[in-house]
Amino acid sequence: MIVFDLLCAPSGHVFEAWFASSDAFETQKSGGLIHCPICGSGDVGKALMTPNIAAKSNRRAVTVAKGDTPDAKTMLAALAKAQAAVLINSSWVGRDFATQARAMDAGEIDKASIHGEASHSEVKSLIEDGIEIAPLPLPVIPPNQSN
Ligand SMILES: [Zn+2]
Repeated sequence: MIVFDLLCAPSGHVFEAWFASSDAFETQKSGGLIHCPICGSGDVGKALMTPNIAAKSNRRAVTVAKGDTPDAKTMLAALAKAQAAVLINSSWVGRDFATQARAMDAGEIDKASIHGEASHSEVKSLIEDGIEIAPLPLPVIPPNQSN
């Protein structure tokens, strides 16, 4: 058995359905045997899966709740929520990001979750040196610094 997230095209309802195989899904779909359980529409296809967010020592899948319309706004809100969850235990270090990431990698300072700004060349050189970093999917508004 295989489970698919299906999407009804007219209304954007998302629901799960079980099939004996991927072929069985195609057969039933082309035979018009699959209907949206919410509105009854037969115009049903596989829902696109939302991306995974990889962050330093933290990996979370973003999913859109069943029944929600997975439009751009919903996807963005889910992404923003997941990013906020990842960053809740992370400190903003601004332009010190590359320096601090290197210091942690070298064991000069304690490892911690940080996020900040880095130039393209800094990112490239961190990756080349095998330091584990991950881009954030959404821009972060730097917190106001009191000093
Ligand atoms: Zn529907």
